[in-house]
Amino acid sequence: MTTRALVRPRTVAEALALLDGEEEARPLAGGASLVAMMNADLLSPSLLVSLRDIAELKGISPAPGGGLRIGAMTRHYETAAAADLCGTLAVLRAAAGRIANPPVRNMGTMGGSISLADPGADYPAALVALGARIEIASPAGTRLLPARDFFVDWYTTALKPGELVTAVLLPAPAGGIGLYHKLARVAGDFATVSVALTAAPSGAVTLAIGGCGPFPIADAAADRELSGRLGDPAAARRAGEILAALADPVDDVRASADYRRLVIPRMVARIAGEAAGWEKAA
Ligand code: FAD
Repeated sequence: MTTRALVRPRTVAEALALLDGEEEARPLAGGASLVAMMNADLLSPSLLVSLRDIAELKGISPAPGGGLRIGAMTRHYETAAAADLCGTLAVLRAAAGRIANPPVRNMGTMGGSISLADPGADYPAALVALGARIEIASPAGTRLLPARDFFVDWYTTALKPGELVTAVLLPAPAGGIGLYHKLARVAGDFATVSVALTAAPSGAVTLAIGGCGPFPIADAAADRELSGRLGDPAAARRAGEILAALADPVDDVRASADYRRLVIPRMVARIAGEAAGWEKAA
């Protein structure tokens, strides 16, 4: 099948109606991955529904019920530079800044990245560590899904046909620490292993591991080990071992599954050590 047309609706409602009307239609965000997949003949949508002119999908703003709303068409470079993403939310700013290189950060979008759900991508672990919620629209209305329920398998999300990611909702900035560490073969590559950490002013810690399974690895027992004990290397080791045991990595061009399991506790120890330093300095 060859792509028949590109349409540029101006509202989410129009985009949903266009997607609903054609089985092989696809939303087009920045095109960073979709166009590459079409060029490689991996996909040939009959209709491309560009989200580019939809103002309600753009930018970072206060969410109506409190917290922050990142529109699906917000580009990675905007997220990487957003001063509002401070305290624990800084984990997302840091993750955005580690994506690929400037051309990809200028093109790629929040909605496109999470809809693609590449297991080596940088946002998923940061969004899970933050307890972010994904706003999803369909002709039937809007629903919200916790990030940890959105990523369901390798390159697979909870999105149903015809649905659009419209935004990511974050809690209100309330101090604390948010860090993101990424191990990659070379600068600009997808993550071999990544770790996202948030530490609230109360001492509560959340961790999530990326690149080591179909979706980010997170566990309440690991979080409990490290909560209030960021500076305790034994607690960091225990938290890392819990997460390594839960990981489901594969052997691929970036690393073997065994290497990834070995690296997780070391990366958790390193990020906890950095967080302890920030905690001390605060
Ligand atoms: P598109 O390419 O336009 O779309 C991607 C998919 O999502 C398509 O199937 C599209 O139909 C669907 N889609 C788009 N928007 C929506 C929406 N709102 N709702 C529902 N479905 C939607 N990412 C990283 O995290 N880390 C990296 O290091 C990294 N390196 C990269 C290096 C290269 C060379 C490239 C090309 C990409 C890399 N990426 C990396 C991915 C990149 O950051 C983009 O996020 C990703 O390519 C998606 O691009 P896009 O936002 O332009 O979406």
